Amino acid sequence: MTDLPSIPSIDGPRLWTSIMDLARIGATQGGGVSRLALTDLDKEARCTFIKWAREAGCETRVDAIGNIFARRRGRSPDRPAILMGSHIDTQPGGGKFDGNYGVLAGLEIMRSLRDNNIETDADIEVVVWTNEEGSRFVPLMMGSGVFSGVCSLSDALSARDSEGVSVGEELTRIGFAGDGHVPHAVDSYFEAHIEQGPVLERTERTIGVVVGALGQRWFDCTVTGFESHAGPTPMTHRRDALQAASILIQRVVELAKSFAPNARGTVGQVAVHPNSRNVIPGRVHFSVDLRAEDEETLDSMASSLCETIETIKQNQSILIDLVEVSRVPAMRFDADCVALVDRSAREAGYDPLEIVSGAGHDAINLAKVAPSAMIFIPCEGGVSHNEIEHAEPDHVTAGANVLMRCICHRAGIVGVANPSH
Ligand SMILES: [Zn+2]
Repeated sequence: MTDLPSIPSIDGPRLWTSIMDLARIGATQGGGVSRLALTDLDKEARCTFIKWAREAGCETRVDAIGNIFARRRGRSPDRPAILMGSHIDTQPGGGKFDGNYGVLAGLEIMRSLRDNNIETDADIEVVVWTNEEGSRFVPLMMGSGVFSGVCSLSDALSARDSEGVSVGEELTRIGFAGDGHVPHAVDSYFEAHIEQGPVLERTERTIGVVVGALGQRWFDCTVTGFESHAGPTPMTHRRDALQAASILIQRVVELAKSFAPNARGTVGQVAVHPNSRNVIPGRVHFSVDLRAEDEETLDSMASSLCETIETIKQNQSILIDLVEVSRVPAMRFDADCVALVDRSAREAGYDPLEIVSGAGHDAINLAKVAPSAMIFIPCEGGVSHNEIEHAEPDHVTAGANVLMRCICHRAGIVGVANPSH
């Protein structure tokens, strides 16, 4: 019996060139990419991916929501496939790396396995998920949502953009309305992505092992006082809604800081009535966005906020109404897959950092149907969803090598393929 080949390294410069080549499709003046889901530019990028995937020896297939699957056959067709991927749609002023990196890192793994004639036991597959960004069509993470049953196919197909054009119409127009929406068996899913935050850069780490994603609770808060003249009304006789609201707004931020490092508290919208400089504000509406890595922390943050509200109500004749309007549970990725990312990073010579994702990703949907994990690499200044988004070539290569190890460990290298096919 011959020795099995070892896990190959990916070709970093080739991966970098592919990222730059794909970024030409929808390139912006400011060095970014504007390639909204299901536009002509998205079609061009999709066709480019399919061409590259076929050249790398993959079979390609498109499902009913336009997700593209590029499969490299393994020796054991009965085993479920190991999936990797991300998205290639962007924000209107997006960057070259968000999403594109995960897809092209997967493609580079296909190319490197082919170059080295390596045969895996299980099939492996690169997936391009439709409309991750949600900029043109809501809901976001649509393709992975349909695949994992978070969103129904009919709801997704009937979603319309601001011009009234539906997802179904656009998929047909660009030639990506595939057949079939019964998800195939998945062994596991791995997604490489730029961090989109500053933690890896600040801690000088190359690889982030993503252990989970922050849960979110969104609230609408209405504070009702009494409008009256800013001059004749003494300070002792006021029911100032904005003054009470400002205490709560401070409290939201303090709460998040008291559950450092992974809690977040944001008030991003404030409306003051009547919003006149010489009228004591009678009513204030504001939004509250609380995020944390587990439900217990979110419960504590929400109940602390309610305690502050009760205190204000007791001390002042003010009405305060807090209504929860949205809830996304905190999630943890599969422990075995997370451990595999950690082990693969260490094998590749890195000292990885455990990190929690603050943003949504297709992997969060996939985690509902298959063991999943993510690999983060740093991005400059933590900036993303911006034309200046940048990742270092060395980091791009590093993340793809960690992904290669995860895929090979999970799929199993069984031999050297016959170079003739
Ligand atoms: Zn993304």
